[in-house]
Amino acid sequence: MKKRALITGVTGQDGYYLSKLLNEKGYEIFGFTDDLGDENAIIRAVEKSRPDEVYNLGAISDLGSATKDPEHTMKINYEAPIKLLNESRKANPNVRFCQASSAEIFSRENPAPQGENAIYGPTNSYGVAKLKAQQEIKRQREEEAVFGCSAIFYNHESPKRGERFVTRKITLTLAKIKLGMVSQLELGNLSAKRDWGFAGDYMEAMWMILQQTKPDDYIISTGIAHSVRDFVTIAAQYLDMTIAWEGEGENEVAKNKSGEIVVKVRPEFYRPLEKHPVIGNNAKARRVLGWKPRTSFEDLVRLMAEKDLEYAKTLK
Ligand code: GDP
Repeated sequence: MKKRALITGVTGQDGYYLSKLLNEKGYEIFGFTDDLGDENAIIRAVEKSRPDEVYNLGAISDLGSATKDPEHTMKINYEAPIKLLNESRKANPNVRFCQASSAEIFSRENPAPQGENAIYGPTNSYGVAKLKAQQEIKRQREEEAVFGCSAIFYNHESPKRGERFVTRKITLTLAKIKLGMVSQLELGNLSAKRDWGFAGDYMEAMWMILQQTKPDDYIISTGIAHSVRDFVTIAAQYLDMTIAWEGEGENEVAKNKSGEIVVKVRPEFYRPLEKHPVIGNNAKARRVLGWKPRTSFEDLVRLMAEKDLEYAKTLK
């Protein structure tokens, strides 16, 4: 019998990679495309799919919009996953449930790298809702023997990443500069660092989490951070664009061979720099799941740069 998986957020980046993986593994996949705020839609989806495994990827993921509307964020990022879990349990008491949690649940005071026991202290409504969902799933696991897990994801990127995230903004804008469609890439903190992994690898971890004998929570990260500046430098290399950095702080720029400014800083895009870099300690996932990120940072940047060069050509 084919395993049945219900995936929310199936139309997003992560949904794309998870569906691809589960399809290769022979699952029958049910994609939830409705509004997660609609309880009846959740009930109907569970009745129809009668899932063995549920992957909750759907969420309001823009931190700024999440914080502007905390009530709606709580509904979608906290109440909906718990509704989904409870309905899934009613339909199948042995259901296995994995929540896409986030590094945003942690306090900025934790030194890097952060492990599963780092101190909680979200700084935005997105993180608050993700933390509450994770804690309720853990409570049901510990108190009611539910197979409920959370994958605590650090930043994960791919050619399907939304264009407002810095990685996609860099690869798409550089590709457009190469094709003469725009002249400059404007960024915020060039020294901001992130632990960037490949979304496809992270979805493999999520699947592995549900194949264990015991449910648990795991940090999924690469454990290595790179700066925004590094990302730009490597993306430019893969696009065969020669750039050279000069200046500092707000005045830092990157120039091309002809001395024209192709990258500059817009102080309006600055965010407060983190006291400690956002880097995850993936030791538990490596040890218990036998998971490790397969895609290197360079390969991730290359994949995104190459895809965006093809994509930008279609926009000309
Ligand atoms: P998230 O903030 O971790 O969810 O992901 P983003 O991709 O939006 O941002 C990653 C990092 O890049 C943050 O530390 C930002 O401060 C930094 N950054 C620098 N310039 C930009 C920019 O122009 N846009 C965005 N989105 N982030 C930028």
